[in-house]
Amino acid sequence: MTAASPPEVLRAPLVVEFPFTRSLGPVQSAFLTGLRESVVLGVKTSDGRVVVPPVEYDPVTSEEIRDLVEVAATGTVTTWAWNDRPRPNQPLGTPFAWALVKLDGADTALLHALDAPGPDAVRTGMRVRVRWAAERTGAITDIACFEPYEDAPDAPAPAPGAGPAPHDGVFEDAVTGIVAEARLDYVYSPGRAQTAYINALSEQRTVGERCPSCHKVYVPPRGACPTCGVATTDQVEVGPAGTVTTFCIVNIKAKNLDIEVPYVYAHIALDGAGLALHGRIGGIPYDQVRMGLRVEPVWTEGGRYPDHYRPTGEPDADYDAYKELI
Ligand SMILES: [Zn+2]
Repeated sequence: MTAASPPEVLRAPLVVEFPFTRSLGPVQSAFLTGLRESVVLGVKTSDGRVVVPPVEYDPVTSEEIRDLVEVAATGTVTTWAWNDRPRPNQPLGTPFAWALVKLDGADTALLHALDAPGPDAVRTGMRVRVRWAAERTGAITDIACFEPYEDAPDAPAPAPGAGPAPHDGVFEDAVTGIVAEARLDYVYSPGRAQTAYINALSEQRTVGERCPSCHKVYVPPRGACPTCGVATTDQVEVGPAGTVTTFCIVNIKAKNLDIEVPYVYAHIALDGAGLALHGRIGGIPYDQVRMGLRVEPVWTEGGRYPDHYRPTGEPDADYDAYKELI
């Protein structure tokens, strides 16, 4: 006799994305507009250091700082890491180095991509220069990347002591705001316990897991009892009927949700479950829903979970029967 192999744990790709809009203020506006004009600006701090990319407040004194200076488009790699597998929307589509580059005239380093044939071609201390994007809009991507700049005898690093020139930061048609697209691609796995829960739902069954120590039945199961700190392994089928433990009346229509308001959203303790899950109550006027109402799930064709719960017609449950589950 052989043990059945455990069911495969579910996985699904998920994407979270939103545009993040921000205004720039005088310093960042000058910096990004400068990039559009192929000029790299830094800011001078109270102790005479030049910070690139510029900050608006002195890192030491926290005073507002506005003394912009122009630094060179050439610099030196201070440290780096090789990126073998560029992700979508990264600066380069081929493997590249993420490098901290101290531009000539700056005292701090700027993080950006360095285009190099391989990690053997990158080293701390190597000379690099900005490769400007062909089309520039006033964004950090106006620097397409850095590129090696070892063989440029006509443009050596500036002599020590030759400080960067002041810049008034004034450009025509300054960039005053940016929209940064935030996007997170990831693969979600609900784990062993919730995989079993989801697989059971596909058969219109609700399966929880019982804690071996306190015997509470978790629905949906998380794989462990947070009270006892032990794994839950015993699967328990609960429901299908349950009891409304508490509820609210929804009066505001949600975007993309085709349900007429008002409707009732309730906590429902399925029979045998040690905590309530939530669902919509239908099949009864919203103002007749009450604590203790006995309900059962209503499935729609192909639904992955109950569409809503409706009254079973049984007498209401005694308060004592569900008071611990509210
Ligand atoms: Zn427990």
